[in-house]
Amino acid sequence: MRSLSWKLGGALLLIVVVSVGLMAYLTNLSTTREFQEYVSQGNTMYAQRVEDTLSQFYAQEGSWTKIQDLLGNLLRSGNDRLIVADSSGIIVGDTAGEWLGRDTAEAGMDDGNQISIDGQEVGKLYLLSSTVGDGRGRMRGRGVPGSPMPALDIAEQNFLDRINSSLWVAGLIAAAIALLAGLFLTRQMTRPIRALSRGASQIARGNLGYRVKIDSKDELGDLAQSFNSMVSSLDRSEQSRQRLIADIAHELRTPLTVIEGTVNGIIDGVFEPDNERLGSVKEQTALLTKLIGDLRDLSLVESGQLKLKLAPTNVVDLVRRKLSQVELRAREKGVHLNLNANQEIPDISTDSDRLEQVLANLLSNAIRHTPAGGKITIAVETVTSDSAHQIMKPSVIISIADTGEGIAPEHLANVFERFYRGGESRARSEGGTGLGLAIVKQMVQAHGGKVWAESKVGKGSTFYVALPVTDS
Ligand code: ADP
Repeated sequence: MRSLSWKLGGALLLIVVVSVGLMAYLTNLSTTREFQEYVSQGNTMYAQRVEDTLSQFYAQEGSWTKIQDLLGNLLRSGNDRLIVADSSGIIVGDTAGEWLGRDTAEAGMDDGNQISIDGQEVGKLYLLSSTVGDGRGRMRGRGVPGSPMPALDIAEQNFLDRINSSLWVAGLIAAAIALLAGLFLTRQMTRPIRALSRGASQIARGNLGYRVKIDSKDELGDLAQSFNSMVSSLDRSEQSRQRLIADIAHELRTPLTVIEGTVNGIIDGVFEPDNERLGSVKEQTALLTKLIGDLRDLSLVESGQLKLKLAPTNVVDLVRRKLSQVELRAREKGVHLNLNANQEIPDISTDSDRLEQVLANLLSNAIRHTPAGGKITIAVETVTSDSAHQIMKPSVIISIADTGEGIAPEHLANVFERFYRGGESRARSEGGTGLGLAIVKQMVQAHGGKVWAESKVGKGSTFYVALPVTDS
């Protein structure tokens, strides 16, 4: 696998080599040019100085006879060679002493620097120097024919070569440092990505407790944080899935054990198949049916698959209808039902079947938890808002208050959770599945509403359902 760090490293290497190479090459080029310019200016000034001295000499002496003695003193360095020719072109002075008496025209030296006194040419100066790989000498200084840049003498060329090679060495060192620093930074930058990739494969292997440790404060740090919170939520939903399966298995086992025990007892002749035994089997079968129905409803509404059939609903009529259905059960238990709906209540948009299910669950709980002689009061009212319960829109509130045993504060916060039972054994023996309030909460939330409960142990409980009034 070609890793990201190799790719980044390769790209970096290319950039460093190209940019440092280009920079060193261009710097070399411009250094050579600048240096030649500098040498050219030096030569021009030198030639000018020598010319001035020579014309002074000629002015004093009136001839070039003793020039050879002076010429040696005018040399700047051992690489230079000065040649003086008189006005007829015959060489009268040569620091090398080789060409004395020769004709400059014959030697092809026709373009020297004029030496003149009062505008009258008295001779010519030739400034030559020995150059690299060429012992013969070249013209330099002013008036060098055919060459815009002067040839450099050996010392100058060596100096330039040293500078240029220093530039290449500096370029190479800079490139090496840039590469090392770049590779280090690349590794640093790709470290969080490697950590994330390790994390992802751990999660894929089912290790949901794994968390990525990245302390950088940049986008990768944010990504790691989102990754960790995604894993946390995955972990939570996995745990809740496992808990749900365990809860369902537990809830199914109890009625099934009763049914199995009773049926086995009847088969073995231990129990008579009388009404009491068969009634118990029937009761447990009904509980199983209810449990499965409740689970189906809950999973539908929780997964968002429940399609509400919304229609304008008169909530008071619906409550009345529901009360008449449970009236008999309440009367049998000796519980008094009371409706309090004096206000003008607007129709609201609800799925009346689902709202009936909500009321059925709340009323059946209230009847179940209220002792004989107790009272259940159902009230319907409207509010414009209720910040204490985060109700910001006008809503219809249905409250069901009983005078039952009440719910202890430590249970009150949990009663809307799946399979939560305050009074464990009794609730089940009374036909509760532990899903009633969870269904109520999900159904009401699907309507855009809210549920909450208030309770005082020994005094009773009140359950509230708030449903928003929507403009129709
Ligand atoms: P269950 O099927 O067990 O009634 P619910 O979800 O309807 O399940 O209720 C959860 C728990 O809340 C019940 O087991 C009970 O302890 C408590 N509860 C619900 N309604 C009332 C009430 N009106 N009075 C007292 N406790 C209640």
